[in-house]
Amino acid sequence: MKYKHRWISGDRIDLPEGKVVCVGRNYAAHINELNNPLPDDPVLFIKPGTALSNIERILSLPKRRGEIHYELEIALLMESTLTDASESDALDGIKAVGLALDLTLRDIQSKQKTKGLPWEVAKAFDGSCPVSGFVAKEHINDLSTLEFSLEINGGLRQQGMVANMLTSIPGLLSYMSRHFTLLPGDIVLTGTPAGVGPLVEGDQLVLSISDIFSVQTRCHYK
Ligand code: ZN
Repeated sequence: MKYKHRWISGDRIDLPEGKVVCVGRNYAAHINELNNPLPDDPVLFIKPGTALSNIERILSLPKRRGEIHYELEIALLMESTLTDASESDALDGIKAVGLALDLTLRDIQSKQKTKGLPWEVAKAFDGSCPVSGFVAKEHINDLSTLEFSLEINGGLRQQGMVANMLTSIPGLLSYMSRHFTLLPGDIVLTGTPAGVGPLVEGDQLVLSISDIFSVQTRCHYK
């Protein structure tokens, strides 16, 4: 079924489905666990609209392409057009906040990295960006103090705090908008904290954001 933006209630959000702009290295502890150097500038990449899926449906994962890693990330749904935006305009351009998985074909990505090749084949495949419902930004007191976590089969795997981002949300959006115009309906992923790892058939995932909401899903390799 085709992905649509929706509120956590399930009601549709009246914005078009666009691209997903992502940042590769935005939490120091995650950079260390993959032995990557600390970046001078945010490392950006894009997932196309065909990567989006509704996270509450079963995660449909491709077989025989090596390990698929989960990366839990805060997702921002944008409502204004941002080009070369200031940090305050960028912050005003956020409509709603949710959670997403930046699913990554880690074996393929590692090969691409050693060869110095782009990551799209590892990061932008169909269904590589499952997204939760969203909560309106007005209902969140302070974006910069949000915490988020991922449990798999009852065990805590990832726990992040927005306060630990190397580039803050307004700074990140402003930087992105200097490279790619952000359009209403685009989603921005803000990076993953430490604890990434492979998904196995039947894994049960619970994703939570502070005490605001939780969503559940399950993995299936097709
Ligand atoms: Zn990521």
